[in-house]
Amino acid sequence: MPGPAASTALEVLRVPVLADNYVWLARWAPGRCAVVDPAVAGPVLERAADEGLRITHILNTHWHPDHVGGNLEIKAHTGCTIIGPAREAARIPGIDRAVDDGDRVALGDHVADVLFVGAHTAGHIAFHFAGARVLFCGDTLFAMGCGRLFEGTAEDMFRALAQLKALPPETRVYCAHEYTLSNARFALTVEPGNAALAARFEAVQGARGRGEATVPFTLAEEHLTNPFVRARDAAELGERRRAKDHFR
Ligand code: ZN
Ligand code: FE
Repeated sequence: MPGPAASTALEVLRVPVLADNYVWLARWAPGRCAVVDPAVAGPVLERAADEGLRITHILNTHWHPDHVGGNLEIKAHTGCTIIGPAREAARIPGIDRAVDDGDRVALGDHVADVLFVGAHTAGHIAFHFAGARVLFCGDTLFAMGCGRLFEGTAEDMFRALAQLKALPPETRVYCAHEYTLSNARFALTVEPGNAALAARFEAVQGARGRGEATVPFTLAEEHLTNPFVRARDAAELGERRRAKDHFR
C-alpha cells in the first residue's frame, strides 16, 4: 500500500550567469523548482529543462537588475509565481506576492522564513529554509564580505548581519555573487594574524584556480573569517566597508 508522498530534501543547483552572478534552482519536489534571483532567463530556463524541472516560483531578494532581469521572461514561459520584497514591490517585475520580515513562503513541505535585511538596498530580504538549513541572502552576506551600502547605513548592515549570524552555524549560505577571492584578500588586510582566515584564503585560491565555485559556504566559516560579521559594532563595520569600497 502506498504511503504518503515522501518529502524531498531541498536540493540547490547553481547556475552561473553574467560575470560573477549565481542563480539558484531550489528543487523542492520531484520535477519542481523555485528560482532565486534570476539575473537572466535563457540559461535558467535551459538548465531547468535539462534537469527535468518545472519552475513554479521565483524568489527575489532585492530589485537590482542582476537579480530580477529574468523575471518576466521566465514567468512568460512557465506561469510561475513571483515572490519578492514588499518594500521594493514597485521595482520587482511581475511580482505576484510581496513579503516582509516574519512572512513565510511554503514550497511544498519546505517553508522559508522571510527576514528583512535592508542595507545593500532599502527593502532587501533573505529567505531562510530552517528545516533544510539553507539561506538565500542575495547581496547581503558574501563569503568573507558583505554587500555595498547603496541604500542603507552601516547600522542597517550591522543589524542585518546580526540577524543572519544568529541562525544555526551549519546553515549553508547561498549568496548571489562569486566575490570570495577579492573578499578574502581584503579580509587579510583587516586580520593578518587570523589563522582560520589564512587557511580559508589558501583553500579559496586553490578552488578558484581550478575554476570551482566557493558558494555555498557555512555561517560557521563566516564567524571565523568574515571581517563584517566579526565587526564589534556598526562603526567598525562602516570603517571596514569604506576601506573595502576603495580596495583593489
Ligand atoms: Zn545587488
Ligand atoms: Fe547583485
